[in-house]
Amino acid sequence: MAAARAVLPDSAEGVPLHEPSFKGNEWRYVKDCIDSGWVSSAGTYVTRFEDALRQTTGAGHAIATCNGTAALHLCYLLAGVEPGSEVIAPALTFVATINALAYCGARPHFADCSALTLGLDPERLADHLERIAERRPEGLYNKESGRRIAAVVCTHVFGHPADLDALVTLCRRWELPLIEDGAEALGSLYGGRHVGTYGLLGALSFNGNKILTTGGGGAVLTDDEALARQAKHLSTTAKLDHAWRYDHDALGYNYRMPNLNAALGCAQLEQLDGFLAAKRVLAARYGEALAPLQGVRFVAEPPGTRSNYWLCSILLRSDCRDRREELLEALHRVGLHARPVWKPMHHLPMYADAPRMDLQVTEDMAARLVSLPSSVALA
Ligand SMILES: *Cc1c(COP(=O)(O)O)cnc(C)c1O
Repeated sequence: MAAARAVLPDSAEGVPLHEPSFKGNEWRYVKDCIDSGWVSSAGTYVTRFEDALRQTTGAGHAIATCNGTAALHLCYLLAGVEPGSEVIAPALTFVATINALAYCGARPHFADCSALTLGLDPERLADHLERIAERRPEGLYNKESGRRIAAVVCTHVFGHPADLDALVTLCRRWELPLIEDGAEALGSLYGGRHVGTYGLLGALSFNGNKILTTGGGGAVLTDDEALARQAKHLSTTAKLDHAWRYDHDALGYNYRMPNLNAALGCAQLEQLDGFLAAKRVLAARYGEALAPLQGVRFVAEPPGTRSNYWLCSILLRSDCRDRREELLEALHRVGLHARPVWKPMHHLPMYADAPRMDLQVTEDMAARLVSLPSSVALA
């Protein structure tokens, strides 16, 4: 605790886990929306924000949405996730990754994480698929449940990239589309390339607690032009383009990002490099302050990647895991709003009976991870 205190400022109100930072053109662009009257579903900031996202991520296409969960839902629909199918998904993730599957009428099939990346473990997943998967003319099936396996989704936990090369290879071998939940990972690179661009589709979030915020928002990333067009179409009630006629050719959603939020996003994206630099400074300080401690270790970016260090986190030594509540209480007592990682998804009542592989690493990580205050302003 003293190590965390040494890194963080004294504050009477306490130090939150993650706060947004508005030091750029936020006021100017948002005011411009209000002055011009273009606050909602039309206006130029959405296009500008999408262009800037393409530039930042190198994705062929970026489609802004009202939140990251909606972006994930669109990714799944476009990847062909249909009612009754199963999707290989991490048990160590935020609940939205899995909820959006349930919105499609699909079931998660939980896979374990790697202790190194916290993302899906491709090697053990490969073994698991060898055991349970069966190719049929109509696609890949789970022999045990009889359901089609429609896709794989991986999460880049805390902004640390999952092992994408191995996951892409695995998905190719089984002819499964890969979807990346990059909600926490704007600015994170794997092999020099932005995450969210390795899979068929990727999702980002710009919720208030993410590295960059639009108030609420998200985006779908893809290199596939037809999928991009469909993502836009489904996010705008599947309305056919016409000056006055209302005609819709599919079940659509109201998932587009309002212009007001995109204006905030444009101003925030201009500052992303600074945010990323600040995160690295904070991560390095935590790393240094925690290095002498025996009972914990700082969670560093996996080799070959550049994490955005969205949430700086520590891993308690195995024999200290029973003392996590004690640590959290001590941190909160002095105003440091640390938090444990999510309860694993297979422990939630909605997903308790979902099929799964052995999840021992997830169980272990879930009992030992603690995220520390990580706002950009702390650097
Ligand atoms: C934040 C988050 C989401 C959901 O994004 P929202 O914009 O809050 O809907 C999905 N997955 C992960 C891993 C997240 O951290």
